[in-house]
Amino acid sequence: MHLIDTVRGMTRVLISGAGIGGLALAQALHQGGVDVVVHEQDPTPATRNQGYRIHIDANGNAALRACLPPAVLDRVRDTSGINGDLVATFTQRLERVFAQEFPGIPASEISNVDRDTFRRGLLTGLGDRVVFGRTVSGYRVADSGRVRVEFAEGGADEGDLLVGADGVGSAVRRGLVPDSGPRDLGLRCLYGRMPIDAETGPLIPADFNRGFCWVAGDNGIGVGFAPVRYRDRPDGYLMVALVTTPSGIGANLHETALEATKDWDPRVKTLIGYADSTSFFPITLRASDRIDPWQSGPVTLLGDAIHTMPPAGGVGANTALQDAATLAAELLSGKDPLDAVAAYERVMIPRGFGTVEASVQMLTQLAAH
Ligand SMILES: Cc1cc2nc3c(=O)[nH]c(=O)nc-3n(C[C@H](O)[C@H](O)[C@H](O)COP(=O)(O)OP(=O)(O)OC[C@H]3O[C@@H](n4cnc5c(N)ncnc54)[C@H](O)[C@@H]3O)c2cc1C
Repeated sequence: MHLIDTVRGMTRVLISGAGIGGLALAQALHQGGVDVVVHEQDPTPATRNQGYRIHIDANGNAALRACLPPAVLDRVRDTSGINGDLVATFTQRLERVFAQEFPGIPASEISNVDRDTFRRGLLTGLGDRVVFGRTVSGYRVADSGRVRVEFAEGGADEGDLLVGADGVGSAVRRGLVPDSGPRDLGLRCLYGRMPIDAETGPLIPADFNRGFCWVAGDNGIGVGFAPVRYRDRPDGYLMVALVTTPSGIGANLHETALEATKDWDPRVKTLIGYADSTSFFPITLRASDRIDPWQSGPVTLLGDAIHTMPPAGGVGANTALQDAATLAAELLSGKDPLDAVAAYERVMIPRGFGTVEASVQMLTQLAAH
């Protein structure tokens, strides 16, 4: 018997956004026999330009195991990065200030992924359940309780539940909790990468090959480095993430990163020098303020759409994955779908905002060094 038979009265779940949380939820519901459709604004899966390396922690691993069918989990793991075992901070002279080691992470766990590769893995087997080129512009809940979503490109779709998994600028959040958008933390991240090859590989300091390393400059600027060395391919890259104020950013982002670190240890300058200058793009660091629970109904939110956080701590994607796992478990538990949504929100809201606050605190510490 299909589990849909136990999701009483619910025939169709609409998800806005084929990002990390939306696709994990779609995988879990599709596996559970629920009719699920994801509407994604990107024209194709290949058009993301949102970032590079994502750290996956124990919560993220548990959520992936809960959401993904075994073959999809295998694909995501096989295309992930070789596991790291270190988080460390350094002065601009590369003196180690702090280090935490994570020895013996088994290969069955995932410690890092490339965002594009991860998305392709999460799309495995979903086929026509994901529709690209559909920007959700708003929704309406009919008296019958059915939800109708409308697309900026024209057209509409209807379902029994709408999940806004549409990230930091969520259109669904604007409809559900209009005054809750994230605030600008006054910091920008210049995000780029250095390809790892025969020439650049030997230039990477040993610690930088082992995990996330944060280098704090005397000038108030910090740069994070972390590798992705694919398990299934010989290549990879070193992520470079420079955090500064908006006024510190010039027209040429690669030159901005070089200029900001010009008095630092030459090994740092060399790595940034070898970075792909076309790979840099700026990100505004934002965080959502805690909001009171709203009246539960047939529209809900997950991930950055409700609790946006800065990248400090590497927990935003992991929290979105946890949301997907919690919501899927509730919807597939056999209880009334609206009770399932309410039960999910009772867990998701305090957990999400608690994680935002921890992430902002960590960013404050890193920025103050
Ligand atoms: C530089 C950087 C580094 C990071 N590193 C980490 C890390 O190491 N570990 C970690 O856990 N987190 C990390 N994060 C945070 C992480 O990227 C986010 O928290 C995570 O992507 C949130 O997942 P999500 O599914 O909620 O949203 P997203 O992954 O952002 O997906 C949202 C999707 O919705 C789509 N969309 C948006 N609007 C619409 C619309 N109107 N209609 C239809 N589709 C729409 C978008 O195109 C996108 O595909 C990092 C973030 C940044 C910026």
